[in-house]
Amino acid sequence: MREKLEPVEVMCPKCKETRIIYLPKEEIPACPRCGVPMVIRELLDEGKSY
Ligand SMILES: [Zn+2]
Repeated sequence: MREKLEPVEVMCPKCKETRIIYLPKEEIPACPRCGVPMVIRELLDEGKSY
Protein backbone atom coordinates (compact mmCIF):
# COMPACT_ATOMS: atom_id res chain seq x y z
CA MET A 1 0.00 0.00 0.00
CA ARG A 2 1.30 3.41 -0.90
CA GLU A 3 1.64 6.11 1.70
CA LYS A 4 -0.82 8.89 1.34
CA LEU A 5 0.49 12.43 1.25
CA GLU A 6 -0.75 14.53 4.11
CA PRO A 7 -1.11 18.26 3.57
CA VAL A 8 0.20 20.07 6.60
CA GLU A 9 0.22 23.76 7.36
CA VAL A 10 3.50 24.98 8.81
CA MET A 11 4.06 28.37 10.37
CA CYS A 12 7.11 30.44 11.25
CA PRO A 13 7.13 31.03 15.01
CA LYS A 14 8.69 34.45 14.50
CA CYS A 15 6.94 36.15 11.58
CA LYS A 16 3.85 33.89 11.35
CA GLU A 17 4.43 33.17 7.69
CA THR A 18 2.52 30.03 6.73
CA ARG A 19 3.05 27.45 4.06
CA ILE A 20 1.46 24.17 3.00
CA ILE A 21 3.69 21.16 2.63
CA TYR A 22 2.99 17.52 1.97
CA LEU A 23 4.27 14.88 4.34
CA PRO A 24 6.06 12.55 4.18
CA LYS A 25 7.30 13.64 0.76
CA GLU A 26 8.46 17.09 1.79
CA GLU A 27 10.28 18.05 4.91
CA ILE A 28 9.48 20.94 7.17
CA PRO A 29 11.18 23.99 5.71
CA ALA A 30 12.96 26.86 7.36
CA CYS A 31 11.38 30.27 7.06
CA PRO A 32 12.87 32.05 4.04
CA ARG A 33 12.87 35.35 5.90
CA CYS A 34 13.99 34.38 9.41
CA GLY A 35 15.90 31.19 8.71
CA VAL A 36 14.29 29.43 11.67
CA PRO A 37 12.59 26.03 11.31
CA MET A 38 8.86 26.32 10.77
CA VAL A 39 6.48 24.44 13.04
CA ILE A 40 3.41 22.39 12.18
CA ARG A 41 0.33 24.50 12.71
CA GLU A 42 -2.41 22.02 12.02
CA LEU A 43 -3.09 18.84 10.19
CA LEU A 44 -5.35 19.31 7.25
CA ASP A 45 -7.59 16.41 6.52
CA GLU A 46 -9.04 16.41 3.04
CA GLY A 47 -11.02 13.28 3.72
CA LYS A 48 -13.39 15.04 6.08
CA SER A 49 -16.43 16.95 4.99
CA TYR A 50 -17.42 19.87 7.12
ZN1 LIG B 1 9.82 33.91 9.64
